[in-house]
Amino acid sequence: MKGICPNCEKETELELVHTKEVIDVRGEPIEVDAEFFKCAECGADFENTRGPDALALAYREYRHRRDMLQPEQICGWRKQYGLTQNELSRILGWGGVTLSRYENGALHSEAHEKILRLAMEPHNLITLIEEASDAIPEDKRYRLLGELRAADDEAFSFDRLSEERFGQYAPDEFSGYRKLDSQKLLNAILFFSVGGQLKTKLNKLLFYADFKHFKEYSISITGARYVHLQYGPVPDNYDYYFSELSRGHYLGVEEEIFGNYTGFKCVACIEPDLGAFDPSERDILKQVINYFREFGSAEIMQFSHEEAAYASTMEGEPISYLHAKDLRI
Ligand SMILES: [Zn+2]
Repeated sequence: MKGICPNCEKETELELVHTKEVIDVRGEPIEVDAEFFKCAECGADFENTRGPDALALAYREYRHRRDMLQPEQICGWRKQYGLTQNELSRILGWGGVTLSRYENGALHSEAHEKILRLAMEPHNLITLIEEASDAIPEDKRYRLLGELRAADDEAFSFDRLSEERFGQYAPDEFSGYRKLDSQKLLNAILFFSVGGQLKTKLNKLLFYADFKHFKEYSISITGARYVHLQYGPVPDNYDYYFSELSRGHYLGVEEEIFGNYTGFKCVACIEPDLGAFDPSERDILKQVINYFREFGSAEIMQFSHEEAAYASTMEGEPISYLHAKDLRI
């Protein structure tokens, strides 16, 4: 093509040369397509300012390799909520131009990637917006929190979460020969939490229900695994269950202070679905809640400590359902 060469300052024939360029991005060499003009007259090379931006391509490739967000994803996410760059920057606690630079292709850090990914979860964005109370106008804030809470409720699925967290484990002596049944676990937790139940006692009730059912029918109810902790047998990762159920608005978890000790009370926010259980399971759940009705947390803890299942295992160890034959109820 014809053009003005910046070197010889004449209108000459310019050849567009396609090439590869290696760009170092944070110590990583990245090869990208590049092009430049070569003057037929003097042989000088110069940049094609309208051509691909090699640095932008290198950044794009670098982000792609690390599964980092691309500028249009950041921008699209912000626009989805109708937020301005300035508003979102304030919500994230970033300086005024940071977000604008990222949306225009600047390479963000791993730390900022982490913040963005977390903020993209509605649940976390709600918290950030609540904390940055003056980041956005009141009416917008109100509308946005409503939208986000609705999205958060919809996103919650105990099935999906428990599978992600616990995987698909094989039914064996530690799960009572049943695969984790998240519906039954959820409903058993709700069943024992109607009207409020201290977490310590709730954990023991779950243990007794599963082990008692195993004792009588050679299979557990929920497929949950139990471990030996200081205060007795508890479902493995129980804190995770409770926090997720509370996040999904199935369970309220309240702090309660007893002298110098803080306990946690779980309160079912929805009715348990007893249809999720077989008749034998419903029967055992009722037997267990009735048996321990008058027991306080300390008493049921003491009672559980005398179980062979507990006495014959060590702190942190999983408890085999095979001990259920010696269960004291
Ligand atoms: Zn020239």
